[in-house]
Amino acid sequence: WRATFSVIQKETGFVNGLITVLHDITEQEKIEMERRDFVSNVSHELRTPLTTMRSYLEALSDGAINEPELGKQFLSVAQTETERMIRLVTDLLQLSRMDSREYELNTDFVDFVKFFNRIIDRFEMAKSKEITFIRELPVTPLYVEIDTDKVTQVIDNIISNAQKYSPDGGSIRFTVTANDGELLVEIKDTGMGIPKEQVDRIFDRFYRVDRARARSMGGTGLGLAISREMIIAHNGKIWAESIEGKGTSIFFTLPYGLVDEEDEWD
Ligand code: ADP
Repeated sequence: WRATFSVIQKETGFVNGLITVLHDITEQEKIEMERRDFVSNVSHELRTPLTTMRSYLEALSDGAINEPELGKQFLSVAQTETERMIRLVTDLLQLSRMDSREYELNTDFVDFVKFFNRIIDRFEMAKSKEITFIRELPVTPLYVEIDTDKVTQVIDNIISNAQKYSPDGGSIRFTVTANDGELLVEIKDTGMGIPKEQVDRIFDRFYRVDRARARSMGGTGLGLAISREMIIAHNGKIWAESIEGKGTSIFFTLPYGLVDEEDEWD
């Protein structure tokens, strides 16, 4: 809904009426609004690193280039900003491919437990913070049909967020349960959490709870939006639960154990 207010005012200046018109925003209008927001967000996200680079390059050509230490430092800023833009454009291209359905899932049958363990191992090896990893994974194999590159990207993204938004001394708990027809994966951290009214928005494109903080950590604000598209492409669901100051759980499901009997006997 969108409201338009008209004030009815007499020549004397006294307000003696207020008309409120509520418009139903049609689906089409909503899509159009989202598109405009998206274009404006993209422009803003690209403009920021570009203006930073411009000032540093200007300073370099104004003489900083002749001071070895300063010159090196300014070049490194320009490099960091270039890398941020490359990440952003890569993410945008990926989203646009998913939007236009210009992609195929390259699926394989894999044991999800083994697959998940390998990803967690990789993070555990490269850990930069004091964060304890707790695995609550089944001991028996659980076979799923997934595009391993895409699901790896989803899990990578969730684990890096869990690390990014957690202090030293925290923990990340990994849980997998097989229910009827689906696999439920939970990645639970003991980090800063997300305010209640914003939890569902973190999967929106460019949505960040704390823009400045997230940017300083190098994020593009597109990671979870891409993850959501990828999970939907697998016919799964993804959502979050969080308590501010206590921690966040990201859940996703994948179809599991649904043997298509017709295929089987064809
Ligand atoms: P970013 O690149 O900013 O991390 P994401 O799409 O991955 O973008 O996440 C969107 C936002 O959701 C983040 O900026 C952060 O505010 C919030 N968020 C995601 N995961 C967590 C988490 N585990 N704990 C707290 N906040 C999180």
